[in-house]
Amino acid sequence: MLLYTSLLSQRKMFRLSHSNPLLIYMICSKCKKDKPSSDFYKRPERKNKPQAYCKECFNIYCMERWLDKKKKAIEYKGGICVDCKGKFDYYLYDFHHLDRATKEFGWHKMRLYGWNRIVKELDKCVLLCCMCHRIREHKIGTDGGT
Ligand SMILES: [Zn+2]
Ligand SMILES: [Zn+2]
Repeated sequence: MLLYTSLLSQRKMFRLSHSNPLLIYMICSKCKKDKPSSDFYKRPERKNKPQAYCKECFNIYCMERWLDKKKKAIEYKGGICVDCKGKFDYYLYDFHHLDRATKEFGWHKMRLYGWNRIVKELDKCVLLCCMCHRIREHKIGTDGGT
């Protein structure tokens, strides 16, 4: 009871189901569909407050944001592979850490951070296409990099 009354006071978009009073419906602010609250992620930083986007829309939204960040990161690193000087589509590029000892995180983690933190990590990397990346790793004899 307490949970949904507090949720109700937070947002106007909540609606209670008549057939099941424990089921809370929310309107996704992206696709505008009426969905049960289980179709929404909880925000990690504020535990009981769900995302305004449904899971489906939120996933798409994240992917788009990560994609934008990757494109921006590629641009930041000069937009060409440092080894073959080739220009490729974004999904063929990797960020290769020159010194594994300084590596804090790879792109999969990097993309979750704000731009300033990403840049700090990118400064330890060179931009390689996936082919050249594979060749470098082969030479180093580790599976390192990304
Ligand atoms: Zn949605
Ligand atoms: Zn290359």
